[in-house]
Amino acid sequence: MSGFDGKNFIGGSWRPAASGRTFEQRNPAFLHEITGTFADSSPADADSAIAAAQAALPAWRALSPLARKTYLDGALRAMIARRDEIAAVITRENGKALREARGEVDSAIKEMDYQIAEGVRLCGQTVPVEVAGTLAYSTREALGPVAIVTPWNFPFNVPCRKCTPALMGGNTVVLKPASLTPRTGLLFTELLAESGLPPGVINCITGAGGSVGAALVGDARIKAVSFTGSTPVGKSIQLAAAKNLTPAQLELGGKNPAIVLPDADLDLAVAEIVKGAFACSGQWCTSTSRVIVLEEIAEELTERLVAAAQTLAVRDGTAEDCGMGPVCGTKQKADVLSWIAQGRVEGARLLTGGQALTGEDYDHGCFIAPTVFDRVTPAMAIAREEIFGPVLAIITVRTFEEAVDVANGVAYGLSSSIFTNDLKRALTYMEHAEVGLAHVNLMTALKEPQLSFGGVKESGAG
Ligand code: NAP
Repeated sequence: MSGFDGKNFIGGSWRPAASGRTFEQRNPAFLHEITGTFADSSPADADSAIAAAQAALPAWRALSPLARKTYLDGALRAMIARRDEIAAVITRENGKALREARGEVDSAIKEMDYQIAEGVRLCGQTVPVEVAGTLAYSTREALGPVAIVTPWNFPFNVPCRKCTPALMGGNTVVLKPASLTPRTGLLFTELLAESGLPPGVINCITGAGGSVGAALVGDARIKAVSFTGSTPVGKSIQLAAAKNLTPAQLELGGKNPAIVLPDADLDLAVAEIVKGAFACSGQWCTSTSRVIVLEEIAEELTERLVAAAQTLAVRDGTAEDCGMGPVCGTKQKADVLSWIAQGRVEGARLLTGGQALTGEDYDHGCFIAPTVFDRVTPAMAIAREEIFGPVLAIITVRTFEEAVDVANGVAYGLSSSIFTNDLKRALTYMEHAEVGLAHVNLMTALKEPQLSFGGVKESGAG
């Protein structure tokens, strides 16, 4: 138990949902273990949180960015000091290996450090004008109370990298973390609260996205929305925000390809593809989910990918030798298994995995074997839809041009890779790739704070 069990953070205090209702969550590796009891908020709680954010706005926005920095520096120091504690909470709620959870906190620390430094450079411009004796200039202004709605796959990093720039920019925030991982979102809020942020500057409400989340993003007092999550929910959020002419920044799903050409360094390609496909059980938005390989090397690459997938030790995330943890919850497990079933029905060849793991170590959790299909065609659902689980689809093509067409031939456009030592082909691919992030000889998921990040097509907007 901690101070925030069963509570929201609104206007500087921890308080239960207006309805008094709560909900429980469970550890995906040990479903009998309850990770906490959380406020089951309703639109009434969204209303209170927005009112608190609105009341706090004038004084917060009037501070200089340097003054705002002193608060966020305090939260950053606490994050560094409590890194292992935060990572343990992430693993317990999300299931990812502790090593991956620590990586998530480390990445949040880097993001926050970077965003704080960027936030003190909120420079405007002076602009020469024709009218004599006139000084024309622009300044950067806070937008107002902003709504931040986040997913469960990076339950600490995503709130951190969205809240930090919003707060540094003088905005006040209402955060709605995912219902599968509310404790991690509340813990992030606690770090900010304990840094002494004035009441109402950060607010956090837990509960169902379809109710409290929808009320939040559709409220006219919210002046910007930042959302990370699935494409269908992102579209509904953009529509709700548009009714109030509220700008919405949307970071959405992906169906990320790795193209492998015959001249590629196959040791490198296999290592990067396996990392990109199975890290965090394939639950990165930037996970590699399609391999598009030229027929000359298809057999060799496929054999090596299957062998590498089979060496991954699927374990509870706290186990020392955990190579891949469970997927995040029973619904996620059922969804991934149903995509696998669909792949079989459509005629893809299952080479390894393809089922829930059972037996003493697995019966209590949401464990799925790393899964590889080949003989996948671009028309199959497993080649087009985001699965968000440990499933890799291998598509064999005849030419480089066909590979590029197949890579681009999906609705999503988040990230991609090409493995080749042919500079001309690599650059040609970069030119034609319909994605936000294109990598050469790297997995589909490189991310550092100073790099731009985001997708095109149905993978993002705003
Ligand atoms: P999700 O189901 O779309 O939920 C994301 C958040 O939105 C959760 O907090 C959810 O609350 C809330 N929500 C649900 N319905 C809502 C509504 N009608 N109005 C307002 N909020 C609503 O996504 P997820 O399953 O948590 O996350 C996985 C998805 O996120 C994948 O598609 C992944 O690719 C994507 N993702 C993208 C990026 C990126 O940068 N492009 C990064 C990470 C993840 P509840 O939890 O209560 O439902």
